[in-house]
Amino acid sequence: MSSDWGSLFDVDTDPEDLLEHFDTEWFRGQRYRHLSDERHGIERGTALVGDVVVRGYPSMPRALVLEPAIRKTFDGPVAIEEKLNGYNVRVARIDGDLLAFTRSGFICPYTTRKVEALLDAEAFFDDHPEQMLCGELVGPENPYTDHDYSEIEEVGFYVFGIHHRESGTPMGVERRLDRCATYGLDSVDHYGTFTPAAAVDAARERIDDLNARGREGVVLKSTDGETALKYTTSAIHRADLEHAFELPFDYGRDFVFTRVMREAFQAVERGESPAAVRERAQALGEAILRPAVETIRTVDRGDPVGETHTVRGDPKIIDDLLSYFREQGLELHIERDETVGDQRVITFTKIAQSTRDKTRYYLEGGTIDE
Ligand code: ATP
Ligand code: MG
Repeated sequence: MSSDWGSLFDVDTDPEDLLEHFDTEWFRGQRYRHLSDERHGIERGTALVGDVVVRGYPSMPRALVLEPAIRKTFDGPVAIEEKLNGYNVRVARIDGDLLAFTRSGFICPYTTRKVEALLDAEAFFDDHPEQMLCGELVGPENPYTDHDYSEIEEVGFYVFGIHHRESGTPMGVERRLDRCATYGLDSVDHYGTFTPAAAVDAARERIDDLNARGREGVVLKSTDGETALKYTTSAIHRADLEHAFELPFDYGRDFVFTRVMREAFQAVERGESPAAVRERAQALGEAILRPAVETIRTVDRGDPVGETHTVRGDPKIIDDLLSYFREQGLELHIERDETVGDQRVITFTKIAQSTRDKTRYYLEGGTIDE
């Protein structure tokens, strides 16, 4: 590998030290490296393919109370966009091939193939070879998340950022929207650009509407794309809790405190009446307890518990995906395995081992010191 890439990172550490933190992987016979956790200020998900650097997508702060957070974060115009709930994918063209990187910088064979099929990005990359498309992959058929959007039958890819792949510098919001329109790339919904003061009401209105439709939330951005702030709906807090408490010993603890506090601050900012708070509390409680009860019953019946996904594609790609998960130590339970035309369609469950084992233990009389 050429050592030039080291100078691209503006870090006060030896490039060789930084390199030690990268994991090595292979994609279509080519070795590459990726950084699974942030190190020396280099974003998680940064990848090195040959001597091409693909920067990670930056982590963004969350507002718990919209009004003061907007005031503190922005001193100029604020663009408001929908926050979609799928998984983060960066698409770069390297040596003529479109490659799809997941959040941790892994080149996912399934996502790469989907993106190749979904995106007509040749013209975009001919004109912007050094840029990468950052977007959310959403829809029911994917191996990572399971949020449903009525407008998407299989999967969709919605661009929310165009960044220089080596420096990570974002394109401004207006220009990015213009590029998406010009090259026929789907974009996340853009609700307009506002002064910080007007953005507060605009964001609140959008949140009410998105909440009523069971959608995730909004991302507010400075017009240069450098600063971003996320804020989410009560509907998604409950959906997250339902998901977490379906697998309580795998996810429950990490999810519950954060979501309860998002709900609490939201209720206060909205000045909710005691009756409205009670309604919120009941919905929150149901989102926690009902799935946990259901899961204990499922384990009691001896049925598998875990996250279930359906994927379809070339049989070889599906094989690669399953091997990748198994190599990561995941235990998979195949629920359905069919061939439709030349495609393999499988529904599989990533077994939640902690939930299964701990639930069994208690059901069989195991005790706990607490
Ligand atoms: P973090 O930002 O701390 O890494 P996270 O990985 O848990 O948090 P989320 O809470 O889902 O992620 O929020 C950030 C993610 O939201 C982005 O990484 C991106 O995948 C997704 N996203 C969806 N819509 C947008 C949008 N319009 N603009 C930016 N990001 C968006
Ligand atoms: Mg997300």
